Amino acid sequence: MDFDLVIQNGTLVIGNQIMPSDIGILDGKIAAIARGLSGRKTFSAQNMLVIPGGIDPHVHLEMPTPTTITSDDWFTGTRAAAFGGTTTVIDFIEPEKGETLLEAFHKRRAQAEAKCVIDFSLHMTISRTDPQTLAEIQTVIRTGIPSFKHYTTYEGFALPDEGLLAAFNAIAQAGGLVLVHAENDAIIKHSTLQLKSSGQLEPGFYPLSRPAIAEVEAIRRVILLARFTSVPLYIVHISTATGASAVEKARYHGQAVFGETCPQYLLLDQGRYQDKDPLYAAGHICAPPLREPKDNLSLWRMLQNGTLQTIGTDHCAFNLHGQKDKGLNCFTNVPGGVPGIESRLALMYTYGVRRGYLTLEQWIDCCCTLPARIFGLAPRKGVLAIGADADIVIFDPNRKVTITKDLLHENVDYTPYEGFELHGYPVATFLRGELLVDQGQWVATGFNGKFIPRFIG
Ligand SMILES: [Zn+2]
Repeated sequence: MDFDLVIQNGTLVIGNQIMPSDIGILDGKIAAIARGLSGRKTFSAQNMLVIPGGIDPHVHLEMPTPTTITSDDWFTGTRAAAFGGTTTVIDFIEPEKGETLLEAFHKRRAQAEAKCVIDFSLHMTISRTDPQTLAEIQTVIRTGIPSFKHYTTYEGFALPDEGLLAAFNAIAQAGGLVLVHAENDAIIKHSTLQLKSSGQLEPGFYPLSRPAIAEVEAIRRVILLARFTSVPLYIVHISTATGASAVEKARYHGQAVFGETCPQYLLLDQGRYQDKDPLYAAGHICAPPLREPKDNLSLWRMLQNGTLQTIGTDHCAFNLHGQKDKGLNCFTNVPGGVPGIESRLALMYTYGVRRGYLTLEQWIDCCCTLPARIFGLAPRKGVLAIGADADIVIFDPNRKVTITKDLLHENVDYTPYEGFELHGYPVATFLRGELLVDQGQWVATGFNGKFIPRFIG
């Protein structure tokens, strides 16, 4: 057979197999995995790992807040993702007042499709539980959005327990999956008030306003609410060892609970808030906050033993100058979030695989295969398999790179990973057989990212 493209002589990571092989691509799909293939075009992957394109299940691009908007939009954010070896992101739909879920979906989809350079999907945010909204859930699932995000904190988003139950119940009935941002709102409000009354408002005090126990309480509670309503639960951005333990226990008892953590909770810690420069501290304000080194270590272990399944970035970029600096006198005015969409695969390879926390297979599972499977993108995405989209990353395991703001393509004026040494870096990224990035150069034209409908169960 004559393929459109053959990726030759690479070392493929397929499940627990590491095998030398070619990949034959036809019409944007993987059509053959074998040696000695020939095609109209070839790409040499000699001495390279060939892996499925990364799936980032948690990003915020072009997301407005009450005072500003994230600095990365659908173009700059997805282009940065592609440079880092991610070929599909799942972002969020946040319906406004008076807008139906489907109206909000069509608007957000169109906004993304106009600028997106990799494939994308969307989670639906549920922040109200009137009968009309609940009745719409089934239609949303049929449209290809089976995952619904809930918040236990944040003005305008948080649902009280009875709201969570109503939504969970409707989603369970319709065959969907619930995502929860789990932090106890009362503990946060109480702690923030105490800090305010004692004048402790600089960014360095921020982590005290969202203590670990706020996450632990909410994770335990939503696990029980999910159990009560028989809905599969995915907890986003788990930051604490004790929170992860609650997931471990629920899974041990057979409950369908999935856990996500992020590079920032594995690699960065609270020490970042102690810096004498308040802007540096502000650059690390995200929710939940960075925790202690012992939490970093436990989260690695929880990935290792399968308690946590996925690594999302929660990429939510705001510039230090002009955005984060608005809150230097009061941390509540700092827009929350850290960037990280581009460096995920490489960070997890160097600090996960090379340090012995993760096997190669687990690295691919956490960053590609399991996010695809849990959210209904499999078998089309997240694996190297015949019939799957030819979303393929050529990863040089020997390339040494130091992360700097200038190395990255994220549209933001800093990176929390400045100075991190990497040993292993993506050198080429294909989306459905089209080369997007080659040796650090953007080689694609146009905005070819597509909305990918998802179906689970
Ligand atoms: Zn998020």
